Amino acid sequence: MQLNYIANTSVPSSSGKTIPVIDPSDGQVFDEIQRSNASDMDTAVNAARECLDLVWQRISAAERGRLLMRLSAKVAAHADELALIEQRDCGKPVKQAKADAAALVRYFEFYAGACDKLHGETIPYLDGYSVMTWREPHGVTGHIIPWNYPMQIFGRSVGGALAAGNVCVIKPAEDACLSLIRVAQLAAEVGFPAGAINIVTGYGHEVGDALARHKGIDHISFTGSPTVGTLIQQVAAERHCPVTLELGGKSPQIVFADADLDAAIPTIINAIVQNAGQTCSAGSRLLVEQSIYEPLLERLGRAFESLRVGPAAMDLDVGPLIRQSQQQRVWDFLSDAHVASIPMVAQGQIVDEAPDTGFYQAPTLLRDVPVMHRLAQEEVFGPVLCAMSFKNEDHAVELANATRFGLVAGIWTRDGARQFRMAKRVKSGQVFINNYGAGGGVELPFGGVKSSGYGREKGFEALYGFTTLKTVAVRHG
Ligand code: NAD
Repeated sequence: MQLNYIANTSVPSSSGKTIPVIDPSDGQVFDEIQRSNASDMDTAVNAARECLDLVWQRISAAERGRLLMRLSAKVAAHADELALIEQRDCGKPVKQAKADAAALVRYFEFYAGACDKLHGETIPYLDGYSVMTWREPHGVTGHIIPWNYPMQIFGRSVGGALAAGNVCVIKPAEDACLSLIRVAQLAAEVGFPAGAINIVTGYGHEVGDALARHKGIDHISFTGSPTVGTLIQQVAAERHCPVTLELGGKSPQIVFADADLDAAIPTIINAIVQNAGQTCSAGSRLLVEQSIYEPLLERLGRAFESLRVGPAAMDLDVGPLIRQSQQQRVWDFLSDAHVASIPMVAQGQIVDEAPDTGFYQAPTLLRDVPVMHRLAQEEVFGPVLCAMSFKNEDHAVELANATRFGLVAGIWTRDGARQFRMAKRVKSGQVFINNYGAGGGVELPFGGVKSSGYGREKGFEALYGFTTLKTVAVRHG
């Protein structure tokens, strides 16, 4: 049984209740986590506050950096163990789980180096004054994390917050807590003081809500669905608590006729099947210039048919979805596609070894999806790619911007001037030209516009969000 991790100690929830942990590859229960409540959240926030006041704020930025660097090395040494935990807990194929652990190592390394490089400015002002700005941590930061990339999102959010001098209370998703509990234990082993990193597990509407409402939380970093993001924002607004929202997407991959298709095709596929399509930045809409629509769909169709889906441990192209309700959600979308007579171009294959009790979904390529159909508007959060064609650049921009989201856009063209024109006109937080995701580099600021959220995580930019600026003006004499 897994316990909460508060003040470097494993503790049960005061509720005495637990939540079963299910392996998505076979649908079987293999562990349980604590079903925490508001009282557990209170304990964690108090531990964090005490750490901040008595220990953490007296530690120099350079020393925080050393701690984070030690944690990076520790996670690297335990990367295989963490990947195995994630593989079972989230149904991630081995390669993906290892990539997530490697990203966590890199986040801690990056933010270790950033700790002592965050500073304010001096501002020329009236004679007789010295004016400066200080970058101060918010204090106790709350982190609500989804189940799709627990380690990566912990790395970017908690890594950045700690580097900026905050202490953290983390509410992982009820479907994916195990790796994060282990990371918190590793942090204690390398010397993080009790209360700097606290993990409280449980349901969102119970302990997640308690975090969002807690007066002792000075900033909330939320990554998850737009619906819950709205709730968090409303709750936080009541006490004017700053919030960073990293929400969903319906991101376009835009392919012009002059694109290098040999390079584009594998990237287009990876952008929708990685993590079984359960990625906020999934490239879930494929916009193709009319003249190459048919040949591109033909090539993609063949590639989709060769994709194999199966248990995470088999390390195939695609693993299971996280849970049965997620599988049902994808089925509902596909059944809507059927009702609307949206043509299916191709599907991958679920291997015979995949247990019937697992939550599998074959990658699916749909074509001629009407721009206002819910398949082209809402996040499926599964391996479903919706293709449509465009006539010219203006039409491509119109389609690309025709959703309420604005997280990522991929643009494939060899025309340099068009690359920049498109990058300017597409409304999204990130634009990737002749690639998609730029390898996920931790240095690259990440976040959305419109309903994809606001604020930035990753990169140095994140540190500004995890601090508040104080202006200090001194009058001399
Ligand atoms: P979710 O919103 O259901 O849950 C996210 C987290 O919020 C979980 O920890 C959950 O327990 C908690 N939560 C749920 N209800 C809550 C409440 N009332 N109060 C407080 N906390 C609550 O999202 P999900 O299904 O876990 O994740 C999928 C969503 O996350 C997708 O929409 C995806 O696009 C988005 N996402 C975005 C990013 C990004 O960086 N933009 C990254 C990953 C996932």
